[in-house]
Amino acid sequence: MRNLVIVLGDQLDPSSSAFDGFDPAVDAVWMAEVRGEGTYVWSHKARIALFLSAMRHFRDRLRDAGVPVHYTELDASGNSGSLREELGRALRSLRPERAVAAHPGEWRVREELRSAARECAVPLEERPDRHFLCPPGEFARHAASRKQLRMEFFYREIRRRLGVLMEDGQPAGGTWNLDPENRRSFGREGPGEIPPPLQFPPDDVTREVIALVEREFPDHPGSLARFDWPVTPGQARQALEDFVTHRLPLFGPYQDAMWTAQPFLYHSRLSSSLNLKLLSPLEAVRAAESAWRDGRVPLASAEGFIRQIIGWREYVRGVYWLLMPEDADRNALDSQCGLPGFYWTGHTEAECLRQVILQTLEYGYAHHIQRLMVTGLFALLLGVDPRKVHEWYLAVYVDAVEWVELPNTLGMSQYADGGVMASKPYCASGRYIQRMSDYCRSCRFDPAKASGPDGCPFTVLYRDFLLRNAAALQHNPRMTMQMRNAGRWTEEERLHIRREADRLRSKFAV
Ligand code: FAD
Ligand code: SF4
Repeated sequence: MRNLVIVLGDQLDPSSSAFDGFDPAVDAVWMAEVRGEGTYVWSHKARIALFLSAMRHFRDRLRDAGVPVHYTELDASGNSGSLREELGRALRSLRPERAVAAHPGEWRVREELRSAARECAVPLEERPDRHFLCPPGEFARHAASRKQLRMEFFYREIRRRLGVLMEDGQPAGGTWNLDPENRRSFGREGPGEIPPPLQFPPDDVTREVIALVEREFPDHPGSLARFDWPVTPGQARQALEDFVTHRLPLFGPYQDAMWTAQPFLYHSRLSSSLNLKLLSPLEAVRAAESAWRDGRVPLASAEGFIRQIIGWREYVRGVYWLLMPEDADRNALDSQCGLPGFYWTGHTEAECLRQVILQTLEYGYAHHIQRLMVTGLFALLLGVDPRKVHEWYLAVYVDAVEWVELPNTLGMSQYADGGVMASKPYCASGRYIQRMSDYCRSCRFDPAKASGPDGCPFTVLYRDFLLRNAAALQHNPRMTMQMRNAGRWTEEERLHIRREADRLRSKFAV
Protein backbone atom coordinates (compact mmCIF):
# COMPACT_ATOMS: atom_id res chain seq x y z
CA MET A 1 0.00 0.00 0.00
CA ARG A 2 1.22 3.49 -0.85
CA ASN A 3 -1.01 5.93 1.13
CA LEU A 4 -3.38 5.15 3.94
CA VAL A 5 -5.75 8.11 4.00
CA ILE A 6 -7.07 8.80 7.49
CA VAL A 7 -10.60 10.20 7.55
CA LEU A 8 -11.85 11.42 10.91
CA GLY A 9 -15.51 11.76 11.87
CA ASP A 10 -15.49 15.51 11.20
CA GLN A 11 -13.69 15.24 7.85
CA LEU A 12 -16.43 13.75 5.68
CA ASP A 13 -15.57 15.64 2.51
CA PRO A 14 -14.59 13.73 -0.64
CA SER A 15 -12.89 16.84 -2.01
CA SER A 16 -10.63 17.07 1.06
CA SER A 17 -6.91 17.55 0.38
CA ALA A 18 -6.35 14.10 1.92
CA PHE A 19 -7.77 12.64 -1.32
CA ASP A 20 -5.50 14.62 -3.67
CA GLY A 21 -3.79 12.14 -6.00
CA PHE A 22 -5.75 9.21 -4.51
CA ASP A 23 -5.34 6.03 -6.56
CA PRO A 24 -7.61 3.15 -5.50
CA ALA A 25 -5.10 0.69 -6.98
CA VAL A 26 -2.43 1.58 -4.39
CA ASP A 27 -4.15 3.74 -1.75
CA ALA A 28 -6.89 3.05 0.79
CA VAL A 29 -8.98 4.91 3.32
CA TRP A 30 -8.99 4.26 7.06
CA MET A 31 -11.87 5.15 9.35
CA ALA A 32 -12.74 3.96 12.85
CA GLU A 33 -15.59 4.40 15.29
CA VAL A 34 -14.02 4.54 18.74
CA ARG A 35 -15.75 4.60 22.08
CA GLY A 36 -13.23 7.06 23.52
CA GLU A 37 -14.50 9.84 21.23
CA GLY A 38 -17.96 9.47 22.79
CA THR A 39 -16.76 9.24 26.39
CA TYR A 40 -13.84 11.66 26.83
CA VAL A 41 -16.65 14.06 27.61
CA TRP A 42 -20.05 12.66 28.62
CA SER A 43 -21.48 13.03 25.11
CA HIS A 44 -25.12 13.55 24.30
CA LYS A 45 -26.50 10.47 22.55
CA ALA A 46 -27.50 12.53 19.50
CA ARG A 47 -23.96 13.86 19.13
CA ILE A 48 -22.54 10.32 19.05
CA ALA A 49 -25.29 9.10 16.70
CA LEU A 50 -24.79 11.98 14.29
CA PHE A 51 -21.06 11.37 13.95
CA LEU A 52 -21.46 7.60 13.51
CA SER A 53 -24.32 7.84 11.03
CA ALA A 54 -22.58 10.47 8.91
CA MET A 55 -19.37 8.39 8.96
CA ARG A 56 -21.18 5.25 7.81
CA HIS A 57 -22.93 7.12 5.01
CA PHE A 58 -19.58 8.52 3.90
CA ARG A 59 -17.97 5.06 4.02
CA ASP A 60 -20.78 3.58 1.89
CA ARG A 61 -20.47 6.38 -0.64
CA LEU A 62 -16.72 5.85 -0.97
CA ARG A 63 -17.15 2.10 -1.37
CA ASP A 64 -19.85 2.66 -4.03
CA ALA A 65 -17.29 4.79 -5.89
CA GLY A 66 -14.76 1.94 -5.79
CA VAL A 67 -12.59 3.31 -3.01
CA PRO A 68 -11.13 0.63 -0.68
CA VAL A 69 -12.10 1.54 2.90
CA HIS A 70 -10.78 -0.11 6.07
CA TYR A 71 -13.57 0.67 8.51
CA THR A 72 -13.89 -0.46 12.13
CA GLU A 73 -17.35 -0.31 13.64
CA LEU A 74 -17.82 0.61 17.27
CA ASP A 75 -18.84 -2.88 18.39
CA ALA A 76 -16.40 -4.78 16.14
CA SER A 77 -14.50 -7.44 18.06
CA GLY A 78 -11.04 -6.27 19.03
CA ASN A 79 -11.94 -2.55 18.77
CA SER A 80 -9.83 -1.07 21.57
CA GLY A 81 -11.98 2.09 21.78
CA SER A 82 -8.97 4.38 21.38
CA LEU A 83 -8.20 6.37 18.25
CA ARG A 84 -4.46 6.12 18.75
CA GLU A 85 -4.52 2.37 19.34
CA GLU A 86 -6.87 1.63 16.45
CA LEU A 87 -4.77 3.68 14.06
CA GLY A 88 -1.63 1.99 15.37
CA ARG A 89 -3.22 -1.40 14.79
CA ALA A 90 -4.09 -0.48 11.19
CA LEU A 91 -0.63 0.96 10.46
CA ARG A 92 1.06 -2.16 11.81
CA SER A 93 -1.09 -4.55 9.82
CA LEU A 94 -1.40 -2.61 6.54
CA ARG A 95 2.17 -1.21 6.51
CA PRO A 96 1.48 1.73 4.16
CA GLU A 97 4.42 3.77 2.87
CA ARG A 98 2.81 6.78 4.52
CA ALA A 99 -0.31 7.90 6.32
CA VAL A 100 -2.08 10.97 4.96
CA ALA A 101 -4.57 13.20 6.77
CA ALA A 102 -6.14 16.59 6.39
CA HIS A 103 -5.25 18.84 9.33
CA PRO A 104 -7.35 17.52 12.26
CA GLY A 105 -9.83 19.91 13.87
CA GLU A 106 -8.76 19.20 17.39
CA TRP A 107 -5.35 19.60 19.00
CA ARG A 108 -5.76 16.39 21.09
CA VAL A 109 -6.66 14.33 18.00
CA ARG A 110 -3.74 15.72 16.03
CA GLU A 111 -1.41 14.62 18.84
CA GLU A 112 -2.98 11.14 18.84
CA LEU A 113 -2.48 10.70 15.09
CA ARG A 114 1.09 11.92 15.35
CA SER A 115 1.97 9.61 18.18
CA ALA A 116 0.36 6.55 16.52
CA ALA A 117 2.35 7.23 13.34
CA ARG A 118 5.55 7.82 15.31
CA GLU A 119 5.14 4.62 17.32
CA CYS A 120 4.64 2.62 14.10
CA ALA A 121 7.46 4.43 12.28
CA VAL A 122 5.10 5.42 9.44
CA PRO A 123 5.53 8.97 8.11
CA LEU A 124 2.39 11.09 8.57
CA GLU A 125 1.67 13.70 5.91
CA GLU A 126 -0.68 16.40 7.24
CA ARG A 127 -2.32 18.40 4.51
CA PRO A 128 -4.10 21.76 4.82
CA ASP A 129 -7.83 21.59 5.49
CA ARG A 130 -9.31 23.35 2.46
CA HIS A 131 -12.77 23.40 3.98
CA PHE A 132 -11.78 26.52 5.89
CA LEU A 133 -11.37 29.86 4.16
CA CYS A 134 -8.48 31.09 6.28
CA PRO A 135 -5.51 28.77 6.88
CA PRO A 136 -4.00 28.90 10.41
CA GLY A 137 -0.80 30.50 8.98
CA GLU A 138 -2.76 33.38 7.42
CA PHE A 139 -4.59 33.90 10.70
CA ALA A 140 -1.31 33.94 12.60
CA ARG A 141 -0.03 36.67 10.24
CA HIS A 142 -3.24 38.64 10.72
CA ALA A 143 -2.85 38.29 14.50
CA ALA A 144 0.81 39.33 14.42
CA SER A 145 -0.09 42.53 12.57
CA ARG A 146 -2.53 43.68 15.29
CA LYS A 147 -2.15 44.89 18.84
CA GLN A 148 -5.49 43.39 19.71
CA LEU A 149 -7.45 40.61 18.02
CA ARG A 150 -10.99 41.54 17.03
CA MET A 151 -13.35 39.54 14.83
CA GLU A 152 -14.63 42.62 13.02
CA PHE A 153 -11.28 43.47 11.36
CA PHE A 154 -10.62 39.87 10.45
CA TYR A 155 -14.11 39.59 8.95
CA ARG A 156 -13.53 42.62 6.75
CA GLU A 157 -10.26 41.20 5.46
CA ILE A 158 -11.88 37.87 4.55
CA ARG A 159 -14.86 39.55 2.92
CA ARG A 160 -12.57 41.74 0.83
CA ARG A 161 -10.38 38.79 -0.18
CA LEU A 162 -13.35 36.62 -1.19
CA GLY A 163 -15.33 39.54 -2.69
CA VAL A 164 -18.40 38.64 -0.63
CA LEU A 165 -21.11 41.33 -0.38
CA MET A 166 -18.76 43.83 -2.01
CA GLU A 167 -19.61 46.54 -4.54
CA ASP A 168 -16.83 48.54 -6.23
CA GLY A 169 -14.43 47.61 -3.46
CA GLN A 170 -16.85 48.80 -0.76
CA PRO A 171 -19.17 46.81 1.50
CA ALA A 172 -22.63 46.45 -0.02
CA GLY A 173 -25.00 48.98 1.54
CA GLY A 174 -22.07 51.17 2.62
CA THR A 175 -21.43 49.49 5.96
CA TRP A 176 -19.65 46.29 7.00
CA ASN A 177 -21.80 45.23 9.89
CA LEU A 178 -25.57 45.60 10.12
CA ASP A 179 -25.87 44.26 13.66
CA PRO A 180 -27.67 47.36 14.99
CA GLU A 181 -30.62 46.35 12.74
CA ASN A 182 -30.43 42.77 14.02
CA ARG A 183 -31.34 42.85 17.69
CA ARG A 184 -35.10 42.67 17.75
CA SER A 185 -37.18 40.68 20.20
CA PHE A 186 -40.61 39.33 19.30
CA GLY A 187 -42.69 41.55 21.54
CA ARG A 188 -45.68 40.33 23.53
CA GLU A 189 -47.37 38.71 20.54
CA GLY A 190 -44.51 36.26 20.02
CA PRO A 191 -42.94 34.96 16.83
CA GLY A 192 -46.16 33.69 15.19
CA GLU A 193 -45.89 30.99 12.51
CA ILE A 194 -42.33 30.21 11.43
CA PRO A 195 -41.80 27.70 8.61
CA PRO A 196 -40.37 24.65 10.41
CA PRO A 197 -36.95 23.43 9.34
CA LEU A 198 -36.73 20.50 6.93
CA GLN A 199 -36.49 17.22 8.84
CA PHE A 200 -34.46 14.19 7.88
CA PRO A 201 -36.08 11.15 9.49
CA PRO A 202 -33.61 8.35 10.23
CA ASP A 203 -32.99 5.93 7.35
CA ASP A 204 -31.82 2.30 7.85
CA VAL A 205 -28.22 3.29 8.53
CA THR A 206 -29.21 5.91 11.10
CA ARG A 207 -31.72 3.59 12.75
CA GLU A 208 -29.01 0.97 13.18
CA VAL A 209 -26.70 3.58 14.70
CA ILE A 210 -29.42 4.82 17.05
CA ALA A 211 -29.93 1.27 18.34
CA LEU A 212 -26.16 0.92 18.76
CA VAL A 213 -25.89 4.16 20.73
CA GLU A 214 -28.82 3.22 22.98
CA ARG A 215 -27.12 -0.11 23.63
CA GLU A 216 -23.54 1.08 24.10
CA PHE A 217 -24.11 4.45 25.82
CA PRO A 218 -27.34 3.88 27.81
CA ASP A 219 -26.47 6.26 30.66
CA HIS A 220 -25.37 9.15 28.44
CA PRO A 221 -27.39 12.37 28.50
CA GLY A 222 -29.94 13.40 25.92
CA SER A 223 -32.58 11.80 23.78
CA LEU A 224 -32.56 10.26 20.31
CA ALA A 225 -36.32 10.41 19.87
CA ARG A 226 -36.15 13.61 17.76
CA PHE A 227 -33.04 12.78 15.76
CA ASP A 228 -33.49 14.38 12.33
CA TRP A 229 -30.14 15.94 11.47
CA PRO A 230 -28.68 15.89 7.95
CA VAL A 231 -26.25 12.96 7.66
CA THR A 232 -25.21 13.29 3.99
CA PRO A 233 -24.00 16.17 1.81
CA GLY A 234 -27.24 15.95 -0.20
CA GLN A 235 -29.33 16.44 2.92
CA ALA A 236 -27.10 19.25 4.13
CA ARG A 237 -27.61 21.04 0.80
CA GLN A 238 -31.39 20.60 1.05
CA ALA A 239 -31.27 22.01 4.60
CA LEU A 240 -29.34 25.03 3.30
CA GLU A 241 -31.83 25.67 0.49
CA ASP A 242 -34.75 25.31 2.87
CA PHE A 243 -33.17 27.77 5.31
CA VAL A 244 -32.32 30.36 2.65
CA THR A 245 -35.83 30.23 1.19
CA HIS A 246 -37.90 30.11 4.36
CA ARG A 247 -36.00 31.52 7.32
CA LEU A 248 -33.02 33.58 6.18
CA PRO A 249 -35.22 36.61 5.30
CA LEU A 250 -35.99 37.12 9.01
CA PHE A 251 -32.80 35.54 10.41
CA GLY A 252 -31.12 38.92 10.84
CA PRO A 253 -33.62 40.86 12.95
CA TYR A 254 -34.45 37.93 15.23
CA GLN A 255 -31.11 36.18 15.61
CA ASP A 256 -30.82 37.21 19.28
CA ALA A 257 -34.44 36.50 20.22
CA MET A 258 -35.63 33.52 22.29
CA TRP A 259 -39.09 32.08 22.84
CA THR A 260 -40.62 29.28 24.94
CA ALA A 261 -40.79 25.89 23.16
CA GLN A 262 -39.31 27.38 19.97
CA PRO A 263 -35.84 25.87 19.76
CA PHE A 264 -34.94 26.89 16.20
CA LEU A 265 -36.84 30.10 15.35
CA TYR A 266 -35.11 31.60 12.27
CA HIS A 267 -31.77 29.82 12.79
CA SER A 268 -30.20 27.64 10.10
CA ARG A 269 -29.32 24.44 12.06
CA LEU A 270 -26.38 24.12 9.67
CA SER A 271 -23.54 24.06 12.20
CA SER A 272 -23.32 20.27 12.47
CA SER A 273 -23.35 19.86 8.67
CA LEU A 274 -20.63 22.48 8.34
CA ASN A 275 -18.51 21.00 11.14
CA LEU A 276 -18.72 17.43 9.82
CA LYS A 277 -17.78 18.90 6.39
CA LEU A 278 -21.00 17.75 4.76
CA LEU A 279 -21.44 21.35 3.64
CA SER A 280 -18.91 23.89 2.43
CA PRO A 281 -18.97 27.26 4.24
CA LEU A 282 -18.40 29.06 0.94
CA GLU A 283 -21.46 27.36 -0.56
CA ALA A 284 -23.56 28.54 2.38
CA VAL A 285 -22.18 32.07 2.08
CA ARG A 286 -22.74 32.23 -1.69
CA ALA A 287 -26.30 30.92 -1.31
CA ALA A 288 -27.10 33.72 1.15
CA GLU A 289 -25.40 36.34 -1.04
CA SER A 290 -27.28 35.21 -4.17
CA ALA A 291 -30.58 35.34 -2.30
CA TRP A 292 -29.82 38.97 -1.41
CA ARG A 293 -28.70 39.86 -4.96
CA ASP A 294 -31.94 38.31 -6.32
CA GLY A 295 -33.98 40.45 -3.94
CA ARG A 296 -35.24 37.47 -1.92
CA VAL A 297 -33.50 38.40 1.33
CA PRO A 298 -32.76 41.78 2.96
CA LEU A 299 -29.12 42.79 3.20
CA ALA A 300 -29.18 42.85 7.04
CA SER A 301 -30.16 39.17 7.14
CA ALA A 302 -27.69 38.05 4.47
CA GLU A 303 -24.87 40.03 6.10
CA GLY A 304 -25.78 38.77 9.59
CA PHE A 305 -25.66 35.14 8.46
CA ILE A 306 -22.51 35.56 6.36
CA ARG A 307 -20.73 37.26 9.28
CA GLN A 308 -21.41 34.23 11.47
CA ILE A 309 -19.69 31.99 8.94
CA ILE A 310 -16.80 33.92 7.42
CA GLY A 311 -16.50 36.09 10.51
CA TRP A 312 -17.07 34.16 13.73
CA ARG A 313 -16.59 30.61 12.48
CA GLU A 314 -13.27 31.28 10.77
CA TYR A 315 -12.15 33.63 13.52
CA VAL A 316 -12.66 31.13 16.35
CA ARG A 317 -10.77 28.49 14.40
CA GLY A 318 -7.90 30.91 13.94
CA VAL A 319 -7.90 31.76 17.65
CA TYR A 320 -8.00 28.06 18.56
CA TRP A 321 -4.92 27.10 16.57
CA LEU A 322 -3.11 30.29 17.57
CA LEU A 323 -3.55 29.72 21.30
CA MET A 324 -3.72 25.97 21.83
CA PRO A 325 -2.80 24.06 23.91
CA GLU A 326 -2.35 26.78 26.61
CA ASP A 327 -5.77 28.30 25.86
CA ALA A 328 -7.58 25.33 27.36
CA ASP A 329 -6.16 26.03 30.84
CA ARG A 330 -6.88 29.75 31.07
CA ASN A 331 -9.02 31.02 33.91
CA ALA A 332 -8.59 34.79 33.93
CA LEU A 333 -11.35 35.39 36.49
CA ASP A 334 -10.15 32.54 38.72
CA SER A 335 -13.59 30.90 38.73
CA GLN A 336 -13.64 27.75 40.84
CA CYS A 337 -17.23 26.59 41.38
CA GLY A 338 -18.54 23.26 40.13
CA LEU A 339 -21.20 23.03 37.43
CA PRO A 340 -24.69 22.79 38.99
CA GLY A 341 -26.19 19.32 38.51
CA PHE A 342 -29.26 20.72 36.74
CA TYR A 343 -27.16 21.40 33.64
CA TRP A 344 -27.53 17.65 32.96
CA THR A 345 -31.24 17.38 33.80
CA GLY A 346 -32.96 20.74 33.33
CA HIS A 347 -34.45 20.40 36.82
CA THR A 348 -34.37 24.02 37.93
CA GLU A 349 -36.95 26.64 38.82
CA ALA A 350 -35.23 29.25 36.64
CA GLU A 351 -37.46 29.07 33.58
CA CYS A 352 -34.89 30.33 31.07
CA LEU A 353 -32.34 27.71 32.13
CA ARG A 354 -35.02 25.03 32.24
CA GLN A 355 -36.16 25.81 28.69
CA VAL A 356 -32.68 25.94 27.20
CA ILE A 357 -31.35 22.85 28.97
CA LEU A 358 -34.43 20.71 28.27
CA GLN A 359 -34.28 21.71 24.62
CA THR A 360 -30.57 20.87 24.58
CA LEU A 361 -31.25 17.42 25.99
CA GLU A 362 -34.10 16.84 23.56
CA TYR A 363 -32.37 17.96 20.36
CA GLY A 364 -28.66 18.47 21.08
CA TYR A 365 -29.28 22.02 19.94
CA ALA A 366 -29.57 25.54 21.31
CA HIS A 367 -29.00 28.67 19.29
CA HIS A 368 -26.20 31.12 19.93
CA ILE A 369 -27.92 33.52 22.32
CA GLN A 370 -29.34 30.65 24.35
CA ARG A 371 -25.80 29.27 24.74
CA LEU A 372 -24.18 32.64 25.37
CA MET A 373 -26.78 34.55 27.36
CA VAL A 374 -28.57 31.81 29.30
CA THR A 375 -26.47 28.73 30.12
CA GLY A 376 -23.14 30.50 29.49
CA LEU A 377 -24.14 33.67 31.33
CA PHE A 378 -25.33 31.75 34.36
CA ALA A 379 -22.07 29.78 34.63
CA LEU A 380 -20.09 33.02 34.22
CA LEU A 381 -22.05 34.85 36.94
CA LEU A 382 -21.95 31.90 39.31
CA GLY A 383 -18.19 31.59 38.80
CA VAL A 384 -18.02 28.03 37.47
CA ASP A 385 -14.59 26.65 36.63
CA PRO A 386 -14.30 27.28 32.85
CA ARG A 387 -12.98 23.74 32.22
CA LYS A 388 -16.20 22.31 33.63
CA VAL A 389 -18.25 24.63 31.44
CA HIS A 390 -16.16 23.65 28.43
CA GLU A 391 -16.70 19.94 29.10
CA TRP A 392 -20.46 20.49 29.25
CA TYR A 393 -20.63 22.42 25.97
CA LEU A 394 -18.41 19.91 24.21
CA ALA A 395 -20.68 17.10 25.39
CA VAL A 396 -24.21 18.31 24.79
CA TYR A 397 -24.40 19.85 21.30
CA VAL A 398 -24.50 17.90 18.05
CA ASP A 399 -22.23 20.50 16.45
CA ALA A 400 -19.63 20.38 19.22
CA VAL A 401 -16.07 20.05 17.98
CA GLU A 402 -13.31 21.48 20.11
CA TRP A 403 -11.85 24.00 17.64
CA VAL A 404 -15.15 25.89 17.61
CA GLU A 405 -16.53 25.04 21.04
CA LEU A 406 -13.49 25.91 23.15
CA PRO A 407 -12.89 29.53 22.06
CA ASN A 408 -16.63 30.19 22.20
CA THR A 409 -16.92 28.77 25.69
CA LEU A 410 -13.69 29.76 27.35
CA GLY A 411 -13.22 33.00 25.46
CA MET A 412 -16.51 34.49 24.41
CA SER A 413 -18.78 33.07 27.06
CA GLN A 414 -16.61 32.71 30.21
CA TYR A 415 -13.99 35.45 29.58
CA ALA A 416 -11.42 32.91 30.76
CA ASP A 417 -8.93 34.17 28.15
CA GLY A 418 -8.99 37.65 29.73
CA GLY A 419 -10.34 39.36 26.61
CA VAL A 420 -8.81 37.72 23.53
CA MET A 421 -12.15 36.68 22.02
CA ALA A 422 -14.38 39.38 23.46
CA SER A 423 -13.52 42.94 24.47
CA LYS A 424 -15.63 42.59 27.63
CA PRO A 425 -17.40 39.79 29.48
CA TYR A 426 -20.90 39.03 28.23
CA CYS A 427 -22.38 39.74 31.66
CA ALA A 428 -25.92 40.93 32.22
CA SER A 429 -28.77 40.69 34.69
CA GLY A 430 -32.06 38.87 34.22
CA ARG A 431 -33.36 42.04 32.53
CA TYR A 432 -31.53 41.07 29.33
CA ILE A 433 -33.31 37.70 29.23
CA GLN A 434 -36.60 39.42 29.97
CA ARG A 435 -36.05 41.79 27.03
CA MET A 436 -35.07 39.08 24.53
CA SER A 437 -37.54 36.32 25.44
CA ASP A 438 -40.82 35.43 27.10
CA TYR A 439 -39.14 33.11 29.62
CA CYS A 440 -39.56 35.46 32.60
CA ARG A 441 -43.33 35.60 32.15
CA SER A 442 -43.77 32.07 33.43
CA CYS A 443 -40.87 32.09 35.88
CA ARG A 444 -41.34 32.18 39.63
CA PHE A 445 -38.51 34.72 39.91
CA ASP A 446 -38.65 38.41 39.07
CA PRO A 447 -35.85 39.65 36.78
CA ALA A 448 -36.02 43.11 38.39
CA LYS A 449 -35.35 41.79 41.91
CA ALA A 450 -31.85 41.27 43.21
CA SER A 451 -32.71 39.73 46.56
CA GLY A 452 -35.32 37.81 48.49
CA PRO A 453 -37.11 34.57 47.68
CA ASP A 454 -38.27 35.81 44.26
CA GLY A 455 -34.99 37.54 43.38
CA CYS A 456 -33.85 36.42 39.90
CA PRO A 457 -30.69 34.31 40.22
CA PHE A 458 -29.16 36.12 37.23
CA THR A 459 -29.82 39.54 38.72
CA VAL A 460 -28.50 38.50 42.14
CA LEU A 461 -25.35 36.97 40.70
CA TYR A 462 -24.76 39.78 38.21
CA ARG A 463 -24.20 42.25 41.03
CA ASP A 464 -21.96 39.83 42.84
CA PHE A 465 -20.02 39.26 39.60
CA LEU A 466 -19.27 42.97 39.29
CA LEU A 467 -18.08 43.12 42.90
CA ARG A 468 -16.00 39.94 42.74
CA ASN A 469 -14.30 40.94 39.54
CA ALA A 470 -13.93 44.67 40.12
CA ALA A 471 -10.14 44.55 40.03
CA ALA A 472 -10.08 42.71 36.70
CA LEU A 473 -12.79 44.83 35.06
CA GLN A 474 -12.55 48.37 36.39
CA HIS A 475 -10.09 49.54 33.73
CA ASN A 476 -11.99 47.96 30.85
CA PRO A 477 -13.34 50.94 28.85
CA ARG A 478 -16.38 48.92 27.74
CA MET A 479 -17.32 48.21 31.37
CA THR A 480 -17.09 51.83 32.58
CA MET A 481 -20.81 52.39 33.04
CA GLN A 482 -21.42 49.06 34.81
CA MET A 483 -18.42 49.48 37.11
CA ARG A 484 -19.37 53.08 37.90
CA ASN A 485 -22.83 51.94 39.01
CA ALA A 486 -21.34 49.16 41.12
CA GLY A 487 -18.93 51.69 42.66
CA ARG A 488 -21.91 53.57 44.14
CA TRP A 489 -23.07 50.63 46.27
CA THR A 490 -22.62 51.22 50.01
CA GLU A 491 -20.68 48.78 52.19
CA GLU A 492 -23.98 47.52 53.57
CA GLU A 493 -25.35 46.89 50.07
CA ARG A 494 -22.18 45.05 49.13
CA LEU A 495 -22.49 42.77 52.14
CA HIS A 496 -26.08 42.05 51.21
CA ILE A 497 -25.18 41.27 47.59
CA ARG A 498 -22.46 38.86 48.71
CA ARG A 499 -24.77 37.16 51.19
CA GLU A 500 -27.48 36.67 48.54
CA ALA A 501 -24.96 35.24 46.09
CA ASP A 502 -23.55 32.87 48.72
CA ARG A 503 -27.08 31.70 49.49
CA LEU A 504 -27.55 30.81 45.82
CA ARG A 505 -24.18 29.06 45.60
CA SER A 506 -24.98 26.87 48.57
CA LYS A 507 -28.40 26.11 47.08
CA PHE A 508 -26.73 24.81 43.92
CA ALA A 509 -24.19 22.93 46.04
CA VAL A 510 -21.30 24.19 43.97
P1 FAD B 1 -27.04 30.04 12.98
O1 FAD B 1 -27.48 30.98 14.02
O2 FAD B 1 -27.97 29.75 11.90
O3 FAD B 1 -25.67 30.61 12.40
C1 FAD B 1 -25.16 30.19 11.13
C2 FAD B 1 -23.81 29.52 11.25
O4 FAD B 1 -22.84 30.45 11.69
C3 FAD B 1 -23.76 28.38 12.25
O5 FAD B 1 -24.23 27.18 11.67
C4 FAD B 1 -22.28 28.33 12.60
O6 FAD B 1 -21.57 27.52 11.70
C5 FAD B 1 -21.82 29.77 12.43
N1 FAD B 1 -21.70 30.43 13.74
C6 FAD B 1 -22.59 31.22 14.34
N2 FAD B 1 -22.08 31.73 15.49
C7 FAD B 1 -20.85 31.20 15.61
C8 FAD B 1 -19.83 31.31 16.58
N3 FAD B 1 -19.95 32.08 17.67
N4 FAD B 1 -18.70 30.61 16.39
C9 FAD B 1 -18.54 29.84 15.30
N5 FAD B 1 -19.47 29.69 14.35
C10 FAD B 1 -20.61 30.38 14.50
N6 FAD B 1 -20.80 26.36 17.31
C11 FAD B 1 -20.44 25.17 16.81
O7 FAD B 1 -20.52 24.96 15.59
N7 FAD B 1 -19.97 24.19 17.62
C12 FAD B 1 -19.86 24.36 18.96
O8 FAD B 1 -19.42 23.45 19.67
C13 FAD B 1 -20.25 25.61 19.51
N8 FAD B 1 -20.16 25.84 20.85
C14 FAD B 1 -20.54 27.05 21.35
C15 FAD B 1 -20.43 27.27 22.73
C16 FAD B 1 -20.80 28.48 23.26
C17 FAD B 1 -20.65 28.73 24.74
C18 FAD B 1 -21.30 29.49 22.42
C19 FAD B 1 -21.69 30.81 22.99
C20 FAD B 1 -21.41 29.28 21.06
C21 FAD B 1 -21.04 28.06 20.50
N9 FAD B 1 -21.13 27.82 19.13
C22 FAD B 1 -20.73 26.60 18.63
C23 FAD B 1 -21.53 28.88 18.19
C24 FAD B 1 -23.05 28.93 17.87
O9 FAD B 1 -23.79 28.96 19.06
C25 FAD B 1 -23.51 27.77 17.01
O10 FAD B 1 -22.68 27.68 15.87
C26 FAD B 1 -24.93 27.97 16.52
O11 FAD B 1 -25.79 28.14 17.61
C27 FAD B 1 -25.36 26.77 15.68
O12 FAD B 1 -26.71 26.88 15.32
P2 FAD B 1 -27.14 27.24 13.82
O13 FAD B 1 -26.45 26.37 12.86
O14 FAD B 1 -28.63 27.25 13.78
O15 FAD B 1 -26.55 28.70 13.71
FE1 SF4 C 1 -34.44 33.50 33.99
FE2 SF4 C 1 -34.56 35.31 35.97
FE3 SF4 C 1 -36.20 35.49 33.88
FE4 SF4 C 1 -36.52 33.55 35.65
S1 SF4 C 1 -36.73 35.74 36.02
S2 SF4 C 1 -36.60 33.34 33.43
S3 SF4 C 1 -34.41 33.10 36.19
S4 SF4 C 1 -34.00 35.67 33.83
